[in-house]
Amino acid sequence: MGAVCPLSGENATSQVSELLNLAAEKAIRYVDNVRERSVGPASTALTALSKFHEPFPEGPRKPSDVLNQLDAVGSPATTAMTGGRYFGFVNGGMVPAALAASWIAVAWNQNAALRVMSPVAAELEDVVLQWICDALGLPSGCEGGLVTCATMANFTALVAARHALLKRAGWDVNEDGMFGAPPIEVLVGAEVHASILKALSMAGFGKKRVTIVEADNQGRMRSDRLPRLTERTIVCIQAGNVNTGAFDPADKICAAARQQRAWVHVDGAFGLWARVSPKYAPLSGGFENADSWATDAHKWPNAGYDCGVILVRDGEALRDSLGIAAAYLEPGARREPMYHTPEASRRARGVELWATLKSLGRAGLCELIERTCAHAQYFAKGLRGAGFEVLNDVVINQVLVSFGAPEVTREVIRRIQEEGTCWCGGTVWQGKTAMRISVSSWATTAADVDRSLEAIVRIARASQSVSSRV
Ligand SMILES: *Cc1c(COP(=O)(O)O)cnc(C)c1O
Repeated sequence: MGAVCPLSGENATSQVSELLNLAAEKAIRYVDNVRERSVGPASTALTALSKFHEPFPEGPRKPSDVLNQLDAVGSPATTAMTGGRYFGFVNGGMVPAALAASWIAVAWNQNAALRVMSPVAAELEDVVLQWICDALGLPSGCEGGLVTCATMANFTALVAARHALLKRAGWDVNEDGMFGAPPIEVLVGAEVHASILKALSMAGFGKKRVTIVEADNQGRMRSDRLPRLTERTIVCIQAGNVNTGAFDPADKICAAARQQRAWVHVDGAFGLWARVSPKYAPLSGGFENADSWATDAHKWPNAGYDCGVILVRDGEALRDSLGIAAAYLEPGARREPMYHTPEASRRARGVELWATLKSLGRAGLCELIERTCAHAQYFAKGLRGAGFEVLNDVVINQVLVSFGAPEVTREVIRRIQEEGTCWCGGTVWQGKTAMRISVSSWATTAADVDRSLEAIVRIARASQSVSSRV
């Protein structure tokens, strides 16, 4: 009855290419405009999202109509994370090669679970995991996998650690689970990232069963406050605190752990990438002596969402805890992706990661890290110069600034987000309400920093003068 059947008939191929051209046109227009538009979505764009809410359509629609609606309603309701003035969370942008490669990867629609399903996805994973070990200065024999995010990478590491430590104690956690198992003590710093606690709860350790080690005013775990470690201790340390960017003293902690055969896991979601720059070697040294590392390629390396990375020194622990057996799965002689991650079916996220690392190279990655850190320094200097209090030692790409009383800082953040020149979020750092500036995108230029700084100072002064009048 006049209904369109989107993909039947001989014209399917030409229809797909027409649609891809339409999508390309829209994506290119988005990319062209993203640097100049308001960084946060306009309130009208948010209101318009209600247009997506309709009863489930009874019949098919023309795919081009679907794309048109997606672009018309969806694109304005994005945050401009790929522009140069988005400083929220530690969200990364996307380097051009990654964006373009992802289009090809989507056309491939590969399932990266097994080599036989996607030889290219498996091969690119082999390559990028080695490159990352090399770039981050981690042991070359590490094994790992690509997961959605650092939370998942933290979880994966804890599952491998749990397996290895319990196996040594004569307990098979795969078969016998956690109930009745010999106890494992988990140490975290007082400024641990919430994702570690979530990962601990998912892995059966429990958020409350952890021992909290005191942290200093930058959020670094105090190595002089470490309790006695044993071969049934997991120590979770950080390379890059999400608020301050500070690094735990890995050298000292890893040395203490090594003596007792404790397992050290590094949450290095973004900070670990500082290790590609010789300039940051003194800050980020010692982490190579840990046992497992979680990081994100969608943060600082700008590989696009989503891409978490897990690396483990003892590959067997990873494979033993995540391998599965089924009659239709023939074990291959080569690395099989799904024996290294919790997931089986997965998108081929090695494609964008390969394109990112290949297009940047070591020098490009290093330059990206150093440039974003320099932008953060410039922000801090500008804010201090304007009379505002920067709360952290700006050691890498994170800046914490207070504009006075908590309600004033919160109001400044609200207005900055609303005004749209740039986008920054809030936090509470050791009792102080602060605004976070995280410079994590390749796209941020010096002009973007100047423009954002001008907007932040202007808005903060206006908010302060209003608040001092009431
Ligand atoms: C961002 C972050 C995480 C969580 O990363 P996701 O990719 O969102 O899971 C974990 N730890 C630290 C230190 C982070 O900065």
